[in-house]
Amino acid sequence: MERAREENRESRWLFTAAVSTTRLNAIAFNRTHVSDNELGYLSEAVRGGATCGDGPFTRRVTALLTELTGTGRALLTTSCTHALEMSALLLDLRPGDEVIMPSFTFMSTANAYALRGAVPVFVDCRPDTLNLDERLVEAAITDRTRAVVVVHYAGVACEMTAIGDLCDRRGLALVEDNAHGLGGSYRGRPLGSFGRMAAQSFHSTKNVQCGEGGALLLNDAELAGRAEVVREKGTDRSRFFRGQVDKYRWIDIGSSYLPSDILAAQLTAQLESFDRIQFLRHSVWRSYHEELAGWAAGNGVSQPVVPDGCAHPAHLYYLLLPDLDNRQAFIAHLADRGVQAAFHYQPLHSAPAGRRYGRPAPGGCPVTEEIADRLVRLPVYPDLEEADVARVIDAVRAYRVRPRSAGT
Ligand SMILES: *Cc1c(COP(=O)(O)O)cnc(C)c1O
Repeated sequence: MERAREENRESRWLFTAAVSTTRLNAIAFNRTHVSDNELGYLSEAVRGGATCGDGPFTRRVTALLTELTGTGRALLTTSCTHALEMSALLLDLRPGDEVIMPSFTFMSTANAYALRGAVPVFVDCRPDTLNLDERLVEAAITDRTRAVVVVHYAGVACEMTAIGDLCDRRGLALVEDNAHGLGGSYRGRPLGSFGRMAAQSFHSTKNVQCGEGGALLLNDAELAGRAEVVREKGTDRSRFFRGQVDKYRWIDIGSSYLPSDILAAQLTAQLESFDRIQFLRHSVWRSYHEELAGWAAGNGVSQPVVPDGCAHPAHLYYLLLPDLDNRQAFIAHLADRGVQAAFHYQPLHSAPAGRRYGRPAPGGCPVTEEIADRLVRLPVYPDLEEADVARVIDAVRAYRVRPRSAGT
């Protein structure tokens, strides 16, 4: 019985793959945007010959990034996953140390710390913003807790005043997994500037992308020197290139976390087009939000909640259907009308590795379990044309929520 239920729970994560056939005229869930200078910069980087890390485009894009996020220092990395791994190294986490984080996030948030032998402690999310519930964090703290990692889901800020104060009071490091939040802010302050460190993603599914890429933002000057070393195979090569030492040596543990300057070239063009990308994404997001409001209210469907003081970067648009059966039927309904939609995170506390390497905080994660079953994301990207946005809206509005079957 328990096993059958378990298999049923697992099979729901396969459902989208089965229905999202590539058909003519289908509206893809995501498509990458090519910025004006992108191909020109790429060819400049390749022809220039200096294609290893920390070249001229890396310097350009790093300057754009620190300006946009209001951070003291940024280091380009090969992914957000690697930026998070760097944060675990820089915090000197030891086996048995605990790191508090949401269960409703991408596995990289937890993996980075589990790799150091630390224990992810999964806290439930708020039912409105789907962010780490700040009211539940204190009860999850033990004498092994070292850090709190927040994820600004959909780029809508967590309650950073409450979480920041708690971390200060309890002497815990605050890290932001800001993969969704580039360009977002909380009470006027950019996301990515709150934590001792913040990790950005430039994966092809993110607002600004270079295929695979990321950055570690450093808001604590004390960490900057060591961060350079950790990123360059545990050597002082960065200081050597600046002429500050006459040879470089192996001085710490580290790895190779710096991307090629070719990727930095692509990213430079993307970040230079940031305002245009954001304008286009916001117009899609707003159309969904305004034009689906009546349908949502009439069908018991929830739209995203953006609290006062939060400016979000239109990273994704989601709807919460009343239950799992409706969510699955809704995805199939959209697929029949040529619209690819997608669910999102499988809760980490109940994932196989989440159970092995982490544990839920006292009280478990009931909200996470529920919303993970109900959530569906609609296509949002700069090149989604107005006519296609209208087609998505029509397809959504044609769905009628089914009453729950008796006994569920
Ligand atoms: C995309 C994403 C990551 C991983 O980013 P990569 O650059 O692919 O490593 C981590 N955390 C969150 C919340 C993400 O959305």
